[in-house]
Amino acid sequence: MDQSQLLYDRAVKVMPGGVNSPVRAYRSVNMCPRFIAKADGPFVYDEDGRRYIDYVCSWGPMILGHNHPVIREAVEKAVKDGLSFGAPTRREVEMAELMVELVPNIEMVRMVNSGTEAVMSAIRLARGATGRDKIIKFEGCYHGHSDCLLVNAGSSALAGGHPSSAGVPEDIVRHTLTAQFNDLPSVEALLSAYPQEVACVIVEPVAANMGVVGPAPGFLAGLRKLCDQYGALLIFDEVITGFRLALGGAQAYYGVKADLVTFGKIIGGGMPVGAYCGSRALMEQVAPCGPVYQAGTLSGNPVAMAAGLAQLRYLKDHQEIYAKLNQKAAWLAGEMDRSAKKHGVALAVNQVESVLSPFFVPTEVTRFTDAKGSDLQRYARYFAGMLHHGVALAPAQFEAMFLSAAHTKAELEETAQAAEETFAGL
Ligand SMILES: *Cc1c(COP(=O)(O)O)cnc(C)c1O
Repeated sequence: MDQSQLLYDRAVKVMPGGVNSPVRAYRSVNMCPRFIAKADGPFVYDEDGRRYIDYVCSWGPMILGHNHPVIREAVEKAVKDGLSFGAPTRREVEMAELMVELVPNIEMVRMVNSGTEAVMSAIRLARGATGRDKIIKFEGCYHGHSDCLLVNAGSSALAGGHPSSAGVPEDIVRHTLTAQFNDLPSVEALLSAYPQEVACVIVEPVAANMGVVGPAPGFLAGLRKLCDQYGALLIFDEVITGFRLALGGAQAYYGVKADLVTFGKIIGGGMPVGAYCGSRALMEQVAPCGPVYQAGTLSGNPVAMAAGLAQLRYLKDHQEIYAKLNQKAAWLAGEMDRSAKKHGVALAVNQVESVLSPFFVPTEVTRFTDAKGSDLQRYARYFAGMLHHGVALAPAQFEAMFLSAAHTKAELEETAQAAEETFAGL
């Protein structure tokens, strides 16, 4: 038996499902999860020392690859001065200044400890600032695990949703309305049904938690227009897209302004960090300036800020990374498409910059309903095949493949070869 199996047997006795976050448990692919001992560049190594080319990249943060020396050194330096002070620090100011410089349309930043916390707080702020209770989210978009966002669309969209998790009261999701991604009329129907009641529309500008689905031309601009028309705020949840699509995130990439923007993942460089940002007028509604309460014992933690700052500064100084990431991802998407066709595997590969998803469907995927049509058994076999060939993918269809600056031509070619052999056996 291998070490992962041995550790997993111990883990399930003392941790629910053996994990601290559900998707890590490999349930959708019916396998024993790999326990990772270390990571470097484009590779992760399991407890038995097996090497995998990694496309999970910690679910997004590791855009420079694992164990990047610049980030590691920044963390080592910060650790020497103490781990946490519960007081303001220089690095927090530098971090906020850098984010304001790089991200369009934001004037102020509040740091928190996770993407979940960032989104939860941004929604509280949107409600506090507008004095409205209802929010609109899109089916298949993920915004963390706070209560009001754990919702399934109800039988009638206008009636509000049902909790998608036990432990969430119906009353709490009563105010959460669900629209369809890439379907503006579904948003307009909700806004016109509740013209004075919707505080905000929240969207992943590139949906990356139903697999990767990019916004249709005009979709994001259309949301902007509808929000303006109905006095609702537009929130871009850029926990994945921030500093990934482009240095300025989705607002810069698509040229659409959001009122509030949430970040996580990349801005922590691998440490637990989130942030929500917006105009001064909005952000000064937050405590201690304004009536919207939000706080955090470890928020802006000096070690976390050191990691995040190092990563953002590196990206700022090496902007050529973005074009290269896009080229690499496009090449890989093309190769997967080519070998799928060759072996008669029905596959649609969606790619937006450095995130991509192969969906096992015969049609293209532009909506959540298309993504749901994917053959999940086939994904599971594909996942197992790739893992066997030393390629670690997300252990679930409805996740993204993340490329990092550390993936070189050699790893990409090895991956394409693995896909070719795996497709041949599907
Ligand atoms: C990961 C993610 C979150 C939640 O972030 P956590 O740090 O896991 O709490 C929120 N929104 C999006 C778009 C995400 O991908």
